[in-house]
Amino acid sequence: MIPAELLQKIACPVCLEAGGCDACRREGVGHPACLSDYAGRVSCACGGPDKVRLVPEGPGLRCPCCGVVYGVHASEGYVDLVPRSRVGEVTQYADHDFHEQLHVTDTPPLLSARVKADMMRRMLGLRPGEAVLDLGCGAGKMALYAGSRGARPAGLDVAPFFLPRAGREVALVLGDLRRLPFRKAAFPRAYSLDVLEHLDETGVREVLLEARRTVGGAGRLFVYTHAMESSRLAGFQRAVNRLARRLGERGLIDHAREAMRKSDHRNAIRSHEHFEALCETAGFRVTQRRYYNVVFKAVIEDLLLRLYEQWRRGRSTAPGESREPVPAHEPAAAKPPGRPMLALGRAMSVILKLDVILFGRIRTGPFFGLLEPTGREGGR
Ligand SMILES: [Zn+2]
Ligand SMILES: [Zn+2]
Ligand SMILES: [Zn+2]
Repeated sequence: MIPAELLQKIACPVCLEAGGCDACRREGVGHPACLSDYAGRVSCACGGPDKVRLVPEGPGLRCPCCGVVYGVHASEGYVDLVPRSRVGEVTQYADHDFHEQLHVTDTPPLLSARVKADMMRRMLGLRPGEAVLDLGCGAGKMALYAGSRGARPAGLDVAPFFLPRAGREVALVLGDLRRLPFRKAAFPRAYSLDVLEHLDETGVREVLLEARRTVGGAGRLFVYTHAMESSRLAGFQRAVNRLARRLGERGLIDHAREAMRKSDHRNAIRSHEHFEALCETAGFRVTQRRYYNVVFKAVIEDLLLRLYEQWRRGRSTAPGESREPVPAHEPAAAKPPGRPMLALGRAMSVILKLDVILFGRIRTGPFFGLLEPTGREGGR
């Protein structure tokens, strides 16, 4: 959806106002300054100049600085604010076929997705009615969940493959994380789940810097991602994964989906200290961190559930046993699960939370982090 409130928060992704501090201010130079000086100006110690507001023009929104007219896709429920100039590599998530194969439905997140969602709500301290921005929202599943828990969700993603329900219930923006099309402090609460690992180091730096501007001087950003580290518990997880791979080779579980999901990981964050340094240059401080040692998840979600899924797929395709014919183009797993499965999923989600409760302080790669501004911008 495109609420009036969203139109107040958006801006041209690449254009900066003339104002700023003595170091980053530019007078009367126009759009060439945006092109040549963007990185230097946004990374200024003052937080950089604000981004240029858009003005309505016909069915779209025009930037008075660069002249680009951005599209308003009212029927699909999103504004297209993708930079018209290339800003870096585009991940596989922008590829439609790749996206289709991820089998997203609009049911509430379960299992490890639920663990992440609830850590996000808890660490961000989301209050009812508060706006929250999902950076890299994908189809919009997590934003819908945040909305169902009382927040006013907004989401940004580079690929326009939003769930129909997200188009109706989430304030959606098509955009690039490295050039966020928002005014300063537009969203004091934001989160990014499973996103940073898809970017190279420059990309991570840029996303953090842009997020810092978007949450403002009193904001909070929650991230879930991983550093290239592991704990002793990770040995157990690797053993389970090896077993899963072997079962995959024998056709007992479908290992392809997980392998595909991870296939474009860039893994730029080398260690937690490295991440802290990246945050620091963007004007953030890591104020809370919980590690995610996936012991229960490895057994329940990566092994038992996959075995069950594959067994069920095998049964439903066995001759004479198919009750409801599934159209060939529609993958079976895209059907929303029934009530008993949802109840079982919820129960298992509770068990999966033990990974955080029991092992959340044991240092390992995957982590939940709360980032707060270092206050270099004088509170703005
Ligand atoms: Zn400045
Ligand atoms: Zn410009
Ligand atoms: Zn512009």
